[in-house]
Amino acid sequence: MIIPPIVNQVVSLQDLCDKIAQNAVHIDQEGCFPEHEFKWMSDASLMDITLPGKPLSFEQDHTAELLDLLKQIGRANLPVGRIYEGHINALYLIHLFGTLEQQERWFSDVTTYEKLFGVWNTQDAGGVRIHDLGDGQYRLEGSKTFCSGAGWVECPLITGELLSADGKGWQMCILPKEKVQLLQVDSSFWKPLGMRASASFKVDFTGIEIEEIDLLGPPDAYYRQPYFSGGAIRFAAVQLGAAEAILEETQQFLRNAHRTEDAFQRARVAEISFLVETGNLWIHQAGIKYDLWVKQADKCEQLLAYANMTRTVIEDVCLRVMQLAERSIGSRGLMRPNNLERIHRDLTTYLRQPAPDQTLTAIGEYVLNQDTTRGLWNEQ
Ligand SMILES: Cc1cc2nc3c(=O)[nH]c(=O)nc-3n(C[C@H](O)[C@H](O)[C@H](O)COP(=O)(O)OP(=O)(O)OC[C@H]3O[C@@H](n4cnc5c(N)ncnc54)[C@H](O)[C@@H]3O)c2cc1C
Repeated sequence: MIIPPIVNQVVSLQDLCDKIAQNAVHIDQEGCFPEHEFKWMSDASLMDITLPGKPLSFEQDHTAELLDLLKQIGRANLPVGRIYEGHINALYLIHLFGTLEQQERWFSDVTTYEKLFGVWNTQDAGGVRIHDLGDGQYRLEGSKTFCSGAGWVECPLITGELLSADGKGWQMCILPKEKVQLLQVDSSFWKPLGMRASASFKVDFTGIEIEEIDLLGPPDAYYRQPYFSGGAIRFAAVQLGAAEAILEETQQFLRNAHRTEDAFQRARVAEISFLVETGNLWIHQAGIKYDLWVKQADKCEQLLAYANMTRTVIEDVCLRVMQLAERSIGSRGLMRPNNLERIHRDLTTYLRQPAPDQTLTAIGEYVLNQDTTRGLWNEQ
């Protein structure tokens, strides 16, 4: 993919990703955030690429290309891929559920003001409640965990339990930029094995007041299917990027160590290669099927099962790729400053996504509920 020209130069996606990958080692620290990376991506027109009139507009069918882009960013640096996926997810939710006025407001925050979005839904026992104060005013109470980009995301989309006489449910809202400075960010929450630079801190929203126009969609829109579970193909694409990076690093490592003649090393590299290609075939096919099925209500269950399979296969591919690579490179390869040490930690951490067991059993449930397994994933 060629990114549109920027200030008198043409930047290829490859060049941009190389630059991001080269800087990954420098930001691999708790408390760090890929500040420069998002500036480069903004300069390269990647932050608004899914908005109306742009190359991968949500208004057209570009999911396979979007997944490929997410994979390439994830391959360059997994924390950058994670935060970028959150930004894209927020813009997609605005595309799906925002009024025209809201879309205009939030999309121009990206195109004109280069604002970074994110989606913060995960929470522990002290989760967010949205109290209706009347007259279109609401007050937030509680906190979120794993808020990627906290302290840097300028327009966070958060969810919470709406407590109102007019309606209840899981409500999305986007905090106004000026309120974001008031958030209490707890970076001490974030002591992870990997994904350090994703800055996935805990954030307390207690006392923040918002207005009706900041609420996105009706209660429970966030969990509307097939968008909610179907969206897993985006993080799966980012994860697969890291598996691709491991293949590249392992191949280079073995070549540099002159260990390419050994049959066991060849067998492991063969396996890593076809696992990564399996992942690519799944991600591509998931993108095609998403666009085909997402607007057909009677295909919702099929799409969810396919997305669940994609996510599960990619997790398995990544786990197997990591294990094969470990055996190939040995302990020397797993030492800093070798890139494999970091990518391994990042991928191990980022593979942990919500409800993997439920995802697997949902696939089985779908298949067992069909009258026959013939044509299970037919596209018509
Ligand atoms: C780097 C990173 C960045 C993230 N960024 C964001 C973000 O920006 N926004 C956001 O909203 N979230 C974010 N998350 C959170 C993420 O989406 C998941 O919610 C989280 O990683 C899941 O954590 P877990 O594996 O501990 O989940 P758990 O739900 O604790 O799952 C662990 C295991 O327990 C099983 N399990 C789950 N429930 C039960 C049960 N009731 N009984 C028995 N077993 C159960 C699961 O199937 C799984 O096998 C991020 C996570 C990471 C790692």
